[in-house]
Amino acid sequence: MTNRTFTMIKPDATEKGHIGAILKIIDEAGFRIVAMKIILLSASKAGEFYEVHKERPFYGELVEFMSRGPITAAILEKDNAVDEFRKLIGATNPAQAADGTIRKLFAASISENAIHGSDSDENARIEGDFFFSKLEQF
Ligand code: GDP
Repeated sequence: MTNRTFTMIKPDATEKGHIGAILKIIDEAGFRIVAMKIILLSASKAGEFYEVHKERPFYGELVEFMSRGPITAAILEKDNAVDEFRKLIGATNPAQAADGTIRKLFAASISENAIHGSDSDENARIEGDFFFSKLEQF
């Protein structure tokens, strides 16, 4: 188990002005930000990131959503980071997310759900390396 995970604050949360509020929750939950950038994904880059979902019916919609505005990508450090962060963000569908979770607070729907969190240590490393060079990870 590593102590790092990867996150993106998604375009819906960016549009609604929630970047600061979400970073505050992440900070107060004890995660250390070891890499961070705001970038606009091209459709092709968004498609590459979500390649694992390319057979799913919502893939096109997901790629369009994730490339329609800037995202904040970050690598976070904490003991048991992947599981702890998934708890902090809540269920994929905000209607099922626990009270106090980021998705419960800021997400509108299962598709526009405010934030991403890696689902395994291996994916956390792959996803972090997708956005950040070694020189950008502290
Ligand atoms: P996550 O690990 O909680 O982000 O959930 P998944 O890996 O299952 O899905 C990845 C992302 O695809 C989600 O965070 C949503 O943005 C999107 N997504 C998941 N299910 C649906 C769906 O049924 N419809 C649409 N439009 N998007 C979805």
